[in-house]
Amino acid sequence: MLKDKVALFRKLLFFILGAALMGAAGISFHHSRHLPEPVVLGPGVTQVKKLSDYFQDLKGTINDANVYVLEGEKPGGAVLILGGTHPEEPAGRLTAWIFTENATIEQGRLFVILSANRSATTATRLGGAYPPDYTIPTPWGGRTFRMGDRWSNPLDQWPDPEVYIHYPSRQELAYVDIRNLNRTWPGRANGTLTEKTCYAMIQLIKEEKIDIAIDLHEAELQYPVISTIVAHDNGQDLAAMASMMISGMEGFDIGMENSPHALRGLSHREIGDHTEAISLLLEAPEPMLDATRGRTDRKLLLEGKDEFVVKAGQHGLLFERIDENGWPIDKRVGRHCSSILQIPEIWSQDFPEQAIRVSNVPRYAEILEKGTGAFLRDPSQASADRIRYE
Ligand SMILES: [Zn+2]
Repeated sequence: MLKDKVALFRKLLFFILGAALMGAAGISFHHSRHLPEPVVLGPGVTQVKKLSDYFQDLKGTINDANVYVLEGEKPGGAVLILGGTHPEEPAGRLTAWIFTENATIEQGRLFVILSANRSATTATRLGGAYPPDYTIPTPWGGRTFRMGDRWSNPLDQWPDPEVYIHYPSRQELAYVDIRNLNRTWPGRANGTLTEKTCYAMIQLIKEEKIDIAIDLHEAELQYPVISTIVAHDNGQDLAAMASMMISGMEGFDIGMENSPHALRGLSHREIGDHTEAISLLLEAPEPMLDATRGRTDRKLLLEGKDEFVVKAGQHGLLFERIDENGWPIDKRVGRHCSSILQIPEIWSQDFPEQAIRVSNVPRYAEILEKGTGAFLRDPSQASADRIRYE
């Protein structure tokens, strides 16, 4: 009798402990999924649209992202910047933020998406013990962002199939990549949430007559596609010229690679195949993504210093250099800002009628000197109608 009571008591105790753990984790997950990320509309922003303006079906879903439109007085060409395809690569989103909050446009139009896969900003790698968020120090305090993941949140798209068959190529891809925004281009209207998101962005590119689409990423140092511009066939001249100009003028080296024809679903392949736009993808180094990294915390995310990755480099296992100074976030954001600025500058020389002239955006050297946070605006100093949330 007594034995039964003790067993019952033990079960109850474990039940209560389990429920308390679940509750605490649930609150933390809920908090990080709903952490508001303000955007202060910079002087160049003339409209804020939604992806559902281009594809109605996205309305009411988590992936109905904001599309910031910056327009010059003089007509010209159009550039689309995609941040947040993979939110766990924060330099991509932060660069898009800097353009939205600072850029002015003299000629042409700039479209910026900060959360291309908004669902993926609301979770971190399952079981990965990633930090839920990170804070960029600014002169007025700091700005906190959701850490995010490489894949759409399973809460928004589930279950995954045994095999993911890419549309329309029918290429078989890893099952989990059915939630990877950089494997679901060009998307489809009646597909999954991630496919619909790509479909909406393809409609945007067609409707707004985008000339150049630039998708921002970061890569692990053990991955051969790093510190480079990946270009669709239609952008090879532009990318080669940009890589030369950047390496000569901006203070860092960047390579150029052709988008492989056999690899389907990626933005640099499918945007170029399915629209008129030149399609480019930028990769910066992010040691936190390396499999051999040590403790995965906010410090590693922002400072990019890791002794184990350095060790891998000493054994010749890396495709990019790293030393004890690491790859801090300012370097990675600075690389993206300078690379994006060079691309329309070169394009505009060749096509003056379709020029896109952007100013007021810091370049690599300036970001290294002042820090990324110097170019994030203080929401408490902005009027309410100039603030949006991601
Ligand atoms: Zn990526």
